[in-house]
Amino acid sequence: MSAEDGLKKVISHAKEYGFVFPSSEIYDGLSAAYDYGQLGSELKNNLKHYWWTAMVRMNDNIVGIDAAIFMHPTTWKASGHVDAFNDPLIDNKDSKKRYRADVLIEEFVAKIEGKINKDVAKGKKRFGDDFNEEEFRSTNPNVLRRQKKIDEINGRFKSAMDTDDLEAVKSLIEDLEIACPVSGSKTWTDVRQFNLMFKTELGAVSGDSGVVYLRPETAQGIFVNYLNVQKSGRMKLPFGIAQIGKAFRNEIIARQFIFRMREFEQMEMQFFVKPGTQEEWYNHWKSARKDWHASLGMGDENYRFHDHIKLAHYADAACDIEFNFPMGFKELEGIHSRTDFDLKSHEEQSGKKLRFFDPETKESYVPYVVETSIGLDRLFLAVLSNAYTEEKLEGGAERTVLRIPPAIAPIKAAVLPLIKKDGLPEKAKEILSLLRINHNVQYDEKDAIGRRYRRQDAIGTPLCITVDHDTLTDNAVTVRERDGMTQERIAITDLAAYVDSKVGMQTLFNK
Ligand code: ATP
Repeated sequence: MSAEDGLKKVISHAKEYGFVFPSSEIYDGLSAAYDYGQLGSELKNNLKHYWWTAMVRMNDNIVGIDAAIFMHPTTWKASGHVDAFNDPLIDNKDSKKRYRADVLIEEFVAKIEGKINKDVAKGKKRFGDDFNEEEFRSTNPNVLRRQKKIDEINGRFKSAMDTDDLEAVKSLIEDLEIACPVSGSKTWTDVRQFNLMFKTELGAVSGDSGVVYLRPETAQGIFVNYLNVQKSGRMKLPFGIAQIGKAFRNEIIARQFIFRMREFEQMEMQFFVKPGTQEEWYNHWKSARKDWHASLGMGDENYRFHDHIKLAHYADAACDIEFNFPMGFKELEGIHSRTDFDLKSHEEQSGKKLRFFDPETKESYVPYVVETSIGLDRLFLAVLSNAYTEEKLEGGAERTVLRIPPAIAPIKAAVLPLIKKDGLPEKAKEILSLLRINHNVQYDEKDAIGRRYRRQDAIGTPLCITVDHDTLTDNAVTVRERDGMTQERIAITDLAAYVDSKVGMQTLFNK
């Protein structure tokens, strides 16, 4: 299945079963905005719960907050977003399509990299077992020529961006003869910087004094509350503040379903540390976050770290945890060592001291910050795309199954009376009441049992509990497990504990 087909299948499955709908679809939708349906919102809530539990509940020194989306506009001056949260954009004059200039250049470079990979593949084929890839890459004239070209392009682009020379970016696009993928033409407008923040006005105040922004990241709500939380919670360094909330970015091109949206949700944690210890904490959080992902059981081979070469203005180290999405490895989470940039800058702009008095050294200083920042929607897409499986069964039948990690599945168990009479529905509903206190469970009596199993497979329900005639006498039920389709007879008195042991949130923490 091609990457594009894989993503298309996930998108259509997500819509058909009530996970994700295009926003305002009856008006033909709004680009890059999506609504989470009845099962999607359950899955999203479970992901939030898993993150919040791991961060806030399992750590004595991390607390959670919920800050407003609107913040004082000076916040964004201090954070650097007003001046520097830009993407360089360029329009093609013939197709009138808009592009990110950096992406056009990156795609051009990726094509050359593709050619190098083809050269390498050919070499491998020709030399078989004797092939030494490293030597080939460092000596083959074709590869060397192409690599030199890549280095030249990257060098020119970096120096143009570092000096804010947008004319040089345009010249680079022209010199490389990059054509618009839609019109095929090479007639481009000048490159302009485009600020990604959404601007609006507060109340009836007009003019600059009323301007507010929709926050482009949740982190600043944490920085401006650093002192409130530290003082009211009597927190000592190191300590963290966690938050889940909406963020908004006017992305020039938003595509690939919920991977890149203009309205999305972040789960961020800012960890305040003593200056000089940031490297140790950066490494700590890199490994803690990797373990958190690994507990979901979505395959260690589907994750990799990518270190940032060009660091943001506020960082002294940064990396991404990338996930193998249907369209390849892409950023899922960022881990950044943000120095004291934000707190210092807020001190300067607000005139308020944002320090920590260290009772041991009797010093007062601005803490350093290590942050972990994950996009909830991207995590949702990672889970859904990883879970989507089409399977051929013995006997030639087929099924589509969502192998969602059981503890975060939207519905944990379905209770199914074998037939709709003889007191089986009543017994099944008793079991439903028993289980629904702790878990999201569903009752279904329509259609043959096999079809009901398929429906539950398609939405990722880990357990199907069948009530049959024997249940009325032996007080036991048959529990079918989603992935292996194995069946087990369980006494009703043991059922709540059994279900909990299979799908409870604790299963993720016991690994
Ligand atoms: P990218 O390079 O993909 O634009 P970023 O480096 O700008 O992402 P950060 O500012 O580090 O992203 O934001 C932290 C996390 O927020 C990202 O790892 C990602 O999961 C999520 N995120 C960022 N932008 C979007 C978006 N437009 N839609 C959905 N999630 C997003």
